[in-house]
Amino acid sequence: MPTPIVTKGDPILSKKTVDVPKNLFGTKALAEMIADMSAALRATEHGVAIAANQIGLPYRIFVVRGFVMEGKERGTEDPDVAFVNPKISRLSRKKELLEEGCLSVPGYRGTIKRSFKATVNAYTEKGKKMERGASGLLAQIFQHECDHLDGILYVEKAEEVFEEEENHEIEKE
Ligand code: ZN
Repeated sequence: MPTPIVTKGDPILSKKTVDVPKNLFGTKALAEMIADMSAALRATEHGVAIAANQIGLPYRIFVVRGFVMEGKERGTEDPDVAFVNPKISRLSRKKELLEEGCLSVPGYRGTIKRSFKATVNAYTEKGKKMERGASGLLAQIFQHECDHLDGILYVEKAEEVFEEEENHEIEKE
């Protein structure tokens, strides 16, 4: 059984996560945490990304579904990608008002201003430096996940939050 995703009201979601210490890079313990995050994410119907504190882990890690990283449709075999100790290094000044949902705030969606482009610097689970720039959905995900890791839920920054219509096929972070 995948680890359950914690929801709004659980104090771990409002606590800033801590960097993964260097001595955990390349260990089985870190690989297992990332595998648990990926399993919890894949057990959801519409999830596209997950932050470590959403399954109760205290570390600064997020995982994005492989098909989103590749800009493909759901259902591909692309492996999920983990960002360890991610920091947003660049944000475009240009922002858009976007619709957003969150696995930790089930039943609701909202509108929020996000930068159109974002760049993240992080490490792989083995400790190799990585940088990824993105626009559109992936840039939105980077901002949503880094907010999670800083203890912020999108509903705290949203312009508007509304109840989700049933059977609304839309992605969640
Ligand atoms: Zn979320």
